[in-house]
Amino acid sequence: MNLSNYQYIQNYIGGEFTEPASKLYFDNINPATGEVFGQIPNSNAEDVQKAVDAAQKALPAWRVTSTEKRFAVLNRIAELIDQHLDELALAETTDNGKPLWLSKKVDIPRASSNFRFFATALMHFASESHQMEDKAINYTLRQPIGIVGCISPWNLPLYLFTWKIAPALAAGNCVIAKPSEVTPLSAYLLSKICKEAGLPDGVLNILHGDGPSCGSAIVAHPDIKAISFTGSTRAGQQIASVAAPMFKKLSLELGGKNPAIIFADCDWEKMMRTVVQSSFANQGQICLCGSRILVEKSIYEKFKSEFIARVSKLRVGDPMDENSKQGAVVSKVHFDKVMSCIELAKSEGGKILIGGQAVKPEGRCAQGYFIEPTVIEGLAPGCKTNMEEIFGPVVTLQVFETEAEALALANCSNYGLAATVWTQDISKANRVAMQVHTGIVWVNCWLLRDLRTPFGGMKNSGVGREGGWDAMRFFTEAKNVCVEI
Ligand code: NAD
Repeated sequence: MNLSNYQYIQNYIGGEFTEPASKLYFDNINPATGEVFGQIPNSNAEDVQKAVDAAQKALPAWRVTSTEKRFAVLNRIAELIDQHLDELALAETTDNGKPLWLSKKVDIPRASSNFRFFATALMHFASESHQMEDKAINYTLRQPIGIVGCISPWNLPLYLFTWKIAPALAAGNCVIAKPSEVTPLSAYLLSKICKEAGLPDGVLNILHGDGPSCGSAIVAHPDIKAISFTGSTRAGQQIASVAAPMFKKLSLELGGKNPAIIFADCDWEKMMRTVVQSSFANQGQICLCGSRILVEKSIYEKFKSEFIARVSKLRVGDPMDENSKQGAVVSKVHFDKVMSCIELAKSEGGKILIGGQAVKPEGRCAQGYFIEPTVIEGLAPGCKTNMEEIFGPVVTLQVFETEAEALALANCSNYGLAATVWTQDISKANRVAMQVHTGIVWVNCWLLRDLRTPFGGMKNSGVGREGGWDAMRFFTEAKNVCVEI
């Protein structure tokens, strides 16, 4: 891919590639080098209106397009994502700073899986029927909502963008979608793929821009009847405050502060290997990363020394280098935020066991935003460092003695997205899984994803569930028809 071809990316509205109405662009910065490599449209309410007009035009035909035809076009998009793997992976890494091998192995393959999964889901989607003895039969229709909005974050750009768009399209809706303004390039390439795949014009409209100008105009538009949002709890609150009084359907996938609960009877090697990953994969910028590591007292010292030894081997550097385990964090703003969280942890009495510093690689990445994987101990459960999301390569260690204490620490959080539990005792694993306040629990594994399962969090981690039939149900309106016999 020649990045100079993408110096100015464009909105995709009604099948056309267009400039933003404002003609305003902002810089796209490669976080690994600190260099500006492109310009991103800053769209506004006028662009959103154009996209809604295009969607309205496309909707009557798309909502009655046969399932076979919808399957064929969505499946074709999946095939084209696979064919463009290298180009998309390079776009993702250039925008986001994550290692190229990770974009190739995880982000882009998952984007095509999302399209393939929901292409087949729409062929099997069925609804209920309820018989009232000999009086009546009820059947439930599942109809497309109409025009829906999908807004996604920067950490897994194409992966999370397609996780929303694919079910929304599969269910027969027209979509106004906005990727993060920090990582727009793979979504722009996706718009070209959708065109090539034969997705009818106006069915999917992709707008680029920031939250205040573009995202908020999508949320506030009266003809966009549902909002599927993944991002920060702060933005989720703002979105809910606008969308809820308009009675829009809302799916909010928000922040996390996930516990990894490690009991003494775990499979040691598997646990060690996985907890290093669940702490620092994607520079710790996965909403599912375990940022609070809770360790049973009898193994705490052993865990600490071996964990530090393994973390010390995580090489931080140029994301284009296949030996780099950790790339750059996504932006200067985020770099500053994570570094200030590390300072806060120190001021709260935390002891930095390893890391805590910026990394300055030599060569082309000298001006990039790199941070050492950081492990901190000695902090109280209720301090800010243990309560607030950092969303970077920073974890804390805490000690527990009993199962009840482990649960109390795990649940001492305003967030409730995911937890991991490490034990060989199946009864204990089930007891803890049942009592932990999170929407997702992994036992003796992490990030093992079956796309049919419900995905989402409780408490400040969000409202609603994505994945499988949950996503198909979210993107449809249920209508019950009662027929007297
Ligand atoms: P963010 O909330 O700043 O932005 C997310 C998206 O929302 C962007 O596209 C942004 O432009 C847009 N946006 C921001 N304010 C908006 C507003 N008022 N109205 C409409 N749109 C708005 O989040 P981020 O920094 O891009 O992503 C990191 C956050 O996402 C973290 O908190 C992380 O935990 C969360 N996240 C959650 C999940 C999950 O599944 N629960 C997955 C990934 C990331």
